[in-house]
Amino acid sequence: MHLTRSLSCLPLAFVITLSARAQGAASDARLAALKTEAMRDIDTRAQFTQQFVDQVFSFGELGFQEFETSKYIVGILKQNGFTVREGVAGIPTAWVATWGSGKPVIALGSDLDGIPQASQVPGVACHLPLIQGAPGHGEGHNSGQAVNITAALAIKNIMQREHMSGTLKIWPGVAEEQLGSKAYLVRDGVFKDVDVVLFSHVGSNLQTGWGASQGSGLVSVLYSFEGQAAHAAGAPWRGRSALDAVELMDVGWNFRREHLRLQTRSHYVIRNGGDQPNVVPPTASVWYYFRELDYKKIKELWAMGDSVAQGAAMMTGTKLASERVLGSAWPGHFNRPIAEDMTENIKLVGLPKWTAADQQFARAIQKEVKGDTTGLDTTVAKLEGDVPDSLNMGGGSDDIGDISWNAPTIVLLYPSNVPNLPGHHWADAIAMATPIAHKGATAGAKAQALTMLDILLKPALVDSAWSYFRNVQTKTVKYEPLMRPEDRPATELNTDILARYRPEMKKFYYDPKKYPTYLQQLGISYPTLRKADGSCAATPNTLQ
Ligand SMILES: [Zn+2]
Repeated sequence: MHLTRSLSCLPLAFVITLSARAQGAASDARLAALKTEAMRDIDTRAQFTQQFVDQVFSFGELGFQEFETSKYIVGILKQNGFTVREGVAGIPTAWVATWGSGKPVIALGSDLDGIPQASQVPGVACHLPLIQGAPGHGEGHNSGQAVNITAALAIKNIMQREHMSGTLKIWPGVAEEQLGSKAYLVRDGVFKDVDVVLFSHVGSNLQTGWGASQGSGLVSVLYSFEGQAAHAAGAPWRGRSALDAVELMDVGWNFRREHLRLQTRSHYVIRNGGDQPNVVPPTASVWYYFRELDYKKIKELWAMGDSVAQGAAMMTGTKLASERVLGSAWPGHFNRPIAEDMTENIKLVGLPKWTAADQQFARAIQKEVKGDTTGLDTTVAKLEGDVPDSLNMGGGSDDIGDISWNAPTIVLLYPSNVPNLPGHHWADAIAMATPIAHKGATAGAKAQALTMLDILLKPALVDSAWSYFRNVQTKTVKYEPLMRPEDRPATELNTDILARYRPEMKKFYYDPKKYPTYLQQLGISYPTLRKADGSCAATPNTLQ
């Protein structure tokens, strides 16, 4: 009976297999054709991408103050038919733009903010601030939204014509340098209906990775102390110095640091050290970043910081008046099936074609900051795999980590910057409004677009992404936010710096109606290298 049934089923199964195969081949051919079309379309958008990168570079805004940047990007998205919700999660510069309908929901994110004191004339391979002391894009966050939105516009056209189901959701990483917003976007429910998150971040190659990434999670805490003011010479015994508490907290922490795990990283800056020496400081505050490899260890480190702060208050007769969480980030964990898919697309895209001028310029920047003078990468980097705890010695953090524990997420690095630079530095701004940044963003947009097509047209890919997310990544680890229920986004950060520098910075905002490129607006010829006499100066653009 069993045998007969099996045999009788054979021809039908055979037919089904054949037709499924034929259909599979047809859909593979369709997908390949759409990918070719998307890449061509993105090439035709190269000037849009370049002007987008240049425009955001010229704003140079710090975390939570990305007002010009967000206004510009929201304008582009609205013009292109996206519905935009602004002021998301109580953050004035955060927004969520959506287009399309139904599943899958693809969320594209990238950071917006710059680095303090990183103002730099682009295209000049030595330290030449545009405005002395002002912020600037000393990491390269001016390029990621251009990558995502260029990709989204190309894919939106294809989706419309082909009547594809799917929703595109574009969102910004506000105040990434403060790890200040993404956990709040999660808390606001931005990723509740999302199937896959494709995050893009500036890098120096075209690359992605899966699993636990090299680096740390963190909590960022502002400790404020209260003492008693007094005449510092006339009646010092009547005063209790809040600055003493800050200094003793720092001394205490620096002793404690010797007895921490090697993976631990922590650093601080004094935000308020008093007003003038003859007034015993009645208030003072110090801002700590506590970094560790997992949620539990971050919480333990934070509790240790609290006890050192309390000890400092006791020693000085002051009070630990408040403890404000200014930011937090889970360590990232990225999705294997999506990262592997992206890696295949990266092979199709390849690295940009660098000119001799690009390479000469990159080497000059590397030499300037004593980095290895290897120039720009010319071979595509490999897919990065899971970094086990035993090999992770800690490092930077990104609050994309919080999102990665709420939906399958990957980070695409794209080659808009130069390798071997210090990071968070004026040198990291030099290439960010030059052909290196522009070509890198176009390559990144292609990799994003091709992976979006795979997500739209291969439901099995989304299924396997969720299977990895549920059965591997979150099998034993459950997400709990590091910030407390009462914490709110620290949207007042950097207000003072922008109030001080914005009037000067405005004079250098890029006007694409007048100049095809920002370098042309600034009158810089590319590449400008340090002069033979050792001086660093701009070379006027002979094109003008
Ligand atoms: Zn970043």
